[in-house]
Amino acid sequence: MAALFISDLHLTPQRADITGAFELFLHEVPQGGDTLYILGDLFEYWAGDDDLAAPEPNFGARIAAALAKVAGRGIGLYFIHGNRDFLLGEGFAQAARVSLLPDPYVFELHGMKTVLLHGDTLCTDDTQYQAFRAQVRAPLWREAFLAQPLAQRHAQIEELRQRSETEKAVKPMDIMDVNEDEVRRVLAETGAIRMIHGHTHRPGRHDYVMAGSARKRWVLPAWDQHAGYLRVDAGGGALVQID
Ligand code: MN
Repeated sequence: MAALFISDLHLTPQRADITGAFELFLHEVPQGGDTLYILGDLFEYWAGDDDLAAPEPNFGARIAAALAKVAGRGIGLYFIHGNRDFLLGEGFAQAARVSLLPDPYVFELHGMKTVLLHGDTLCTDDTQYQAFRAQVRAPLWREAFLAQPLAQRHAQIEELRQRSETEKAVKPMDIMDVNEDEVRRVLAETGAIRMIHGHTHRPGRHDYVMAGSARKRWVLPAWDQHAGYLRVDAGGGALVQID
């Protein structure tokens, strides 16, 4: 029985290659009794669960159906929101048979206290992004945004994405990585000895010693030219690349 972790697939109908790789992954990798954790940015963006009722071809509904099929094979599915799909709600969760988890989420995994996050909250050096995050995660903003017609929401998201791409291009690389003090703060506050997150697109394993205990931080890969996941079982964790 293994726990599998993926994030940052940025699924969109424009990337049939990544969608195909994801469908193949779902079909072949998780086995009955395993658990699959999706740590955010499964979708390039999510405009609202009412998108699931849009006419065919409905990309969101297709992905939800693929996940529901996996759940039907006895694989537990969990989801933490990313900065791209934070508007994904109970409607999607029910259609996909996934359980939504809070960010951060602390639990016991093979005897090790583990904290899961998307990872964007760790990037505290990017103050401009953190201000934007606070704005769009406010319940009032969410309510007002979702009250707009779907087409208008799609247009606004497109505009935000363009702006974000332009801003990212001029930001120094290091402010878009995690802040190590914030990592240590979260590890200390939660008491976790293992942290798993995505978002930064810098896959790897980082070791820490804190309060006399060895701790690990796993960063999940984004899906682009390659795909991959983290597999954790009783023997420990390993990043696995899929070609
Ligand atoms: Mn992200």
